Amino acid sequence: MDRPKAAISACLLGERCRYDGSDNKDPKLLGKLAAYELVPFCPEDFCFGTPRPTMDLVETKEGIKAISNVTGADLSPPVEAYARRFFEEHPDIDLFIGKDRSPSCGVCSARLYDREKELLNSESSGLMAAEAKRRGIEAWDAEDYLAAHPAPPIRGS
Ligand code: SF4
Repeated sequence: MDRPKAAISACLLGERCRYDGSDNKDPKLLGKLAAYELVPFCPEDFCFGTPRPTMDLVETKEGIKAISNVTGADLSPPVEAYARRFFEEHPDIDLFIGKDRSPSCGVCSARLYDREKELLNSESSGLMAAEAKRRGIEAWDAEDYLAAHPAPPIRGS
C-alpha cells in the first residue's frame, strides 16, 4: 500500500534554501514523520532564489500580502501561484508541515503587520500554508507537530 504523503518545508529536511542560505534541519521531526512519503517545497527559493531579501506579511486593503522588506513590492503573486501549482501537481497530500513563523510556510505562527509595520498578531498563516488550509489539508507548524507527537517512553526506564 502507498504511504501517506506529507508536504514539508524543504528547509526542515536540511535544504539550504533559507533567505540567508542556511537550513532548519530537524532530525527529531523527520523521525516523527518516518511513516510518510515526504514531498518538499520551498516557494521562496523557487520564486526568488537563495540568498534573497526577506519579506513580511502585511494586512492591506486587498488582503494579506507578502511585502519585500527591501523594495516594498508585493511578492505575493508568484508565491501564491507556486502554492496553487504545487497542490494541483500533488492532489494526494495528506499532511502539511510548515516551518514556524515563515511568511510563506508558517501555519499558525507567522507575524502579521500593518502598513506602518506595527505587529498585529503572531498567529497568521503564511501564503503557502494558507493555500493548504483552504484545500482542507491537515496543517501543522513543525514545532507544534513535534510537541503534539511526543516520543514514546523508553521501555524499562
Ligand atoms: S520556511 Fe518555507 S520559504 Fe522559507 S526556506 Fe523554508 S521552505 Fe523555503
